[in-house]
Amino acid sequence: MSVLDLARPEIRAMQPYSSARMEASGGKVMLNANESAWAPPGDHGLGCNRYPDPQPRELTDALASLYGVRPEQVLVGRGSDEAIDLLVRAFCRAGEDAIAIQPPTFGMYAVCARVQNAGIVEVPLAADFSLDAVALLAAVTPAVKLVFVCTPNNPTGQLVSPETIERLAIALKGRALLVVDEAYIEFADAVSVASLINRYDNLAVLRTLSKAWALAGARIGTLLANEEVITLLRRVMAPYPLPRPCIALALEALSSTGQAEVRVHLATVREQRERMASALAVLPGVREVLPSQANFLAVRFDDAGAVYQRLLEAGIVVRDVRRYPGLGDALRITIGNVEENDRVLTVLKRPAQDGRHVADGLASGERA
Ligand code: PMP
Repeated sequence: MSVLDLARPEIRAMQPYSSARMEASGGKVMLNANESAWAPPGDHGLGCNRYPDPQPRELTDALASLYGVRPEQVLVGRGSDEAIDLLVRAFCRAGEDAIAIQPPTFGMYAVCARVQNAGIVEVPLAADFSLDAVALLAAVTPAVKLVFVCTPNNPTGQLVSPETIERLAIALKGRALLVVDEAYIEFADAVSVASLINRYDNLAVLRTLSKAWALAGARIGTLLANEEVITLLRRVMAPYPLPRPCIALALEALSSTGQAEVRVHLATVREQRERMASALAVLPGVREVLPSQANFLAVRFDDAGAVYQRLLEAGIVVRDVRRYPGLGDALRITIGNVEENDRVLTVLKRPAQDGRHVADGLASGERA
């Protein structure tokens, strides 16, 4: 059985759109795509009057080498958000198929499923936020076509071990595509499971340049999977998903100087995460700092709502995750630069007062 047997048959059967750039490129005079012959103002040599290559080889080569896979196993999209959406659209028939997730987890899996009118099978994480592989496998009915596993998990920060991932891939063979979301893996003391796609055709891995690579604004995310899955998703994807300026930014980040710069920031984030975890854990009103392998900390407070408000009044915005199951008393705090982290600690070290007094008590210039 091929993994494609899990996909929507109508997607496999349809004739995909063939864009002008896919049919022909590289001529001296390009009059096949109804483009302008003139570069736009502010083009700076990017050539934005021309459609971009749908999957520029230079970029897929650079990402394949970064992630340790072959270029044919790479699909680059507008953030990994786009890859999640493409997977759900290509594998789940509306009103019939489903995805499986483990709440509390990243919200987009469920949103994409709802947009597609696919079902959502929820297998909650255990009380310590570890993944319950036995319960997950038991919940995978024939309707479940995609199983999303987020590691490190957003918003809890915990890792799922590569051994568990492999066990799931084996158990799900012929039943579902296992999609491992490694958006935060660069911050973790763990290696990616990307190379396992060569062993398991029902395994796919999501990576992104939005986090460790500081390119959230350029929207570059990658799906690593077997070539047949990549080819299938390209049938569903928009013809020219990657804007030329974003391709250029990604290539610059992936150059050797870009990589060196990123490594410095990565080390700082990891260092600051440990510093913040220790400093927050001893503050009054803090119940628990969940151990995190990502660039954020989920922190339980006696009164998370009041803390959120106090931070907000000091100009600091964190993520209120109290609506997530099991996190009714928690906030998610992204690790910033040293100065930003200091500001969080300064506000939280002050004795709790009502919001007005906290705001009034700020030193001048402390409001962001
Ligand atoms: N996966 C996870 C777990 C995330 O937290 C995010 C962003 N918050 C994404 C995927 C999407 O990232 P992007 O689309 O920027 O690549």
